[in-house]
Amino acid sequence: MKGDKPAVTPMMAQYLEIKAQYPDALLFYRMGDFYEMFFDDAVAAAEALDIALTKRGKHSGEDIPMCGVPHHAAEGYFLTLIRKGFRVAVCEQLESPAEAKKRGYKAVVKRDVVRLVTPGTLTEDSLLDARRHNFLAAYSVVRDEAALAWADISTGALHVMPLAPVRLAPELARLAPSELLVAEGSERDLAPIVDDMGVPLTAVSRGSFDSVTAEKRVSALFKASSLEAFGTFTRPEAGALGAIVDYLELTQKGKLPLLQVPVREATQGVMQIDAATRRNLELTASLSGGRAGSLLATIDRTVTAGGARLLEQRVSSPSLRLATIQGRLESVSYMVAHRSEASDIREALRKVPDLDRALSRLSLDRGGPRDLAAIRNGLGQAGELAERAYAGELPDELTAARGAIQGHEALLTQLEDALIAEPPLLARDGGFIAPGFDPELDESRELRDQGRGVIAGMQAQYSEQTGIAALKIKHNNVLGYFIETTAKHADAMMSPPLNETFIHRQTTANQVRFTTVELSEMETKILNAGNRALEIEKRLYGSLKHAILDCAGAVAAAARGLAEFDLATALAELAATENWTRPEVNESYDFAIEGGRHPVVEAALRKSGDPFVANHCDLSGGDAASIWLLTGPNMAGKSTFLRQNALIALLAQMGSFVPADRAKIGLVSQLFSRVGASDDLARGRSTFMVEMVETAAILNQADDRALVILDEIGRGTATYDGLSIAWATLEHLHDVNKSRALFATHYHEMTQLAGKMAGVDNATVSVREWEGEVIFLHEVTQGAADRSYGVQVAQLAGLPKAVVARARVVLEALEKGEREGKTQKALIDDLPLFAAAPPPVAAPPSGPSPLQEKLAEISPDTLSPREALNLIYELKDMA
Ligand code: ADP
Repeated sequence: MKGDKPAVTPMMAQYLEIKAQYPDALLFYRMGDFYEMFFDDAVAAAEALDIALTKRGKHSGEDIPMCGVPHHAAEGYFLTLIRKGFRVAVCEQLESPAEAKKRGYKAVVKRDVVRLVTPGTLTEDSLLDARRHNFLAAYSVVRDEAALAWADISTGALHVMPLAPVRLAPELARLAPSELLVAEGSERDLAPIVDDMGVPLTAVSRGSFDSVTAEKRVSALFKASSLEAFGTFTRPEAGALGAIVDYLELTQKGKLPLLQVPVREATQGVMQIDAATRRNLELTASLSGGRAGSLLATIDRTVTAGGARLLEQRVSSPSLRLATIQGRLESVSYMVAHRSEASDIREALRKVPDLDRALSRLSLDRGGPRDLAAIRNGLGQAGELAERAYAGELPDELTAARGAIQGHEALLTQLEDALIAEPPLLARDGGFIAPGFDPELDESRELRDQGRGVIAGMQAQYSEQTGIAALKIKHNNVLGYFIETTAKHADAMMSPPLNETFIHRQTTANQVRFTTVELSEMETKILNAGNRALEIEKRLYGSLKHAILDCAGAVAAAARGLAEFDLATALAELAATENWTRPEVNESYDFAIEGGRHPVVEAALRKSGDPFVANHCDLSGGDAASIWLLTGPNMAGKSTFLRQNALIALLAQMGSFVPADRAKIGLVSQLFSRVGASDDLARGRSTFMVEMVETAAILNQADDRALVILDEIGRGTATYDGLSIAWATLEHLHDVNKSRALFATHYHEMTQLAGKMAGVDNATVSVREWEGEVIFLHEVTQGAADRSYGVQVAQLAGLPKAVVARARVVLEALEKGEREGKTQKALIDDLPLFAAAPPPVAAPPSGPSPLQEKLAEISPDTLSPREALNLIYELKDMA
């Protein structure tokens, strides 16, 4: 009808209704084997995924942009979209088209969103890095109090801690969550902190954080009458936990992962390390961004994904509790002392699959037969490991871990009996239940297979009957079973008497296809038996899944126990092969390292065949400050030395042996590391500004248990400014912070401080000069560097010979002038280069200017405010 608006098709109406509920997400709308996107979603997705944008029908007279991806490949597309900052709402068909038709000729298939895919809620192995945690975090503020909660939905761990707002950045740096939930309206304030960390921020409604509803929500989840059953939680803590649970319900559409009861983490329990320090020490990622070249990658000898994740957690959060540290060191020591036992354990662990993630997929109904098998294999290995290895006296930590990995026989037997050795990925197609487990299933399968046998026999029979040797019985999804011959024989088959038996079904380019009554009957029999077998397998899958979920807590504990064994043996392997020693950690203020090495630099040098020179460091100064002021030319090894000592402290407190001959470390509560003038253009701040902001953070926070590493602070500005800042910083560290510190500088003037301040010592990285070239010995010795060797280093770097020669002349002239006490101007005038330049065209007038004369006349104390103001006007006119 002319003039009428084109009606919206029923399907489009459904699409628009669902889309309206998910304005912030790309809606993946399931149509048969594809997920389709429409309108703006299609435009955005086509660009982000680099797929074709097409059209489908019209809406309000305009073409509807559309793009689509095959559903079986959707996971890969999810990942790309998540990485590009999108969220995806997955909308599935909730009934088959046939079921819809029963409701009416034009009825649209029922659909709804079954899941929101966001970075913090992924569980698929293909989307996750197996060796890293995937945390969803929530930050909640109530008046002056704040709290941070975080969950790993792929393992179910749920944590919360109180948090002063200034601690948000360092905690985010420690946990590196994949997504942070904040209350609507606070994104703007938080963006600068969070953007810095690269953590995607998701704003959720304020109601989500409401502590009263949150308490109810969380206690209901754990079937407790109140949250107090799990400890005392502050309002922001309850709010943050509630927001996490609410968000999981929202994104998982009611299918909650198996969350463990919330664990309250004390802030005091871990060594505090801020984001800049983590970056700078390259703890879990190198400065270039990847895992390679980081401390974590260098020391990782774990053989299971769970072990690798535990290691990452330890590297990120070294402990401050002496008992915890000693307990972990005991475990490593035990394994070092029992190497062959340890290597047996590692052999067994290699076969352990990722139990945590299999468990979480099962709980979210995203699992399959392979996840059942993963639990079976994991528990099987766990039992063997516990039995085989440990007659000896295990240290406490491992005794507990051993307890957790034992006693799963009932579940294990059930899974072993039920499953075949290597089941397929999807439950849908069946074929994963072992023969002999369920008599009904066996019977259906037999019927189905017999039918297939009969059909195979029919081929020979028909071939004989028709005299066509090339006759074949085949199967496809459209026709089912059919008889196929080449076109050449088709006529005979379609003429009497053969046409009484053979019914024509299809003619293709080269083939003609037939069926018979007998064949279709047999096919129906096979189909029925097959469907029945599938039904039974699906039911069995469900009951096995429930059997596992009923023991979820115990399985998760076993996974953790296995990870503990993995980590203890991996650290022992590292200690033994790299020749590391057990550190002595105590409550003193000592810091005495003998023969310390930098694990990452040492590993890199080994590849090129160069030896690493081990060095001592002693900052044991009782409870007063103890600072080493390190001078030496560039490239001598100052930064390496500084960092290796920070890393040794960190390794010791995470419970690892350390790369040194001996190490005695009084607990370090905070670790700070800064490098002067690192390039930080990407963040749009001047490098010097960054350096100062970071230095300020240390001076404001470091206490007498801190270990501070400052590398060339002040380098980013003019010489005297830089020297003054470095000088004042060192004084503050010494007098106010009283921290243990290593301070590398190229300002030789600062070496005088050693004589003036108790507890400040000079150290230098020695070099030799030989035939005009420097040789780096990388040896840290007492005393100050005699000179900077900058020219020699420049020569090494490949500066043109003429420039190097020229620089030597200039340097000599400057040094000679300085010895003779010349002023700077005289020094410069004496330089051949400058003397050769033409004199300035208009030499500045000698003697004071009128302005200077006027200024000299002023005596500020005698001026009235009015006179002062007039004077300023007068001076301005003269200028
Ligand atoms: P600086 O900070 O003094 O400029 P670096 O610490 O960056 O020097 O060290 C420069 C290079 O010297 C390193 O990349 C490493 O190859 C080598 N190096 C440093 N320390 C040692 C050492 N103790 N033993 C052997 N080589 C070292």
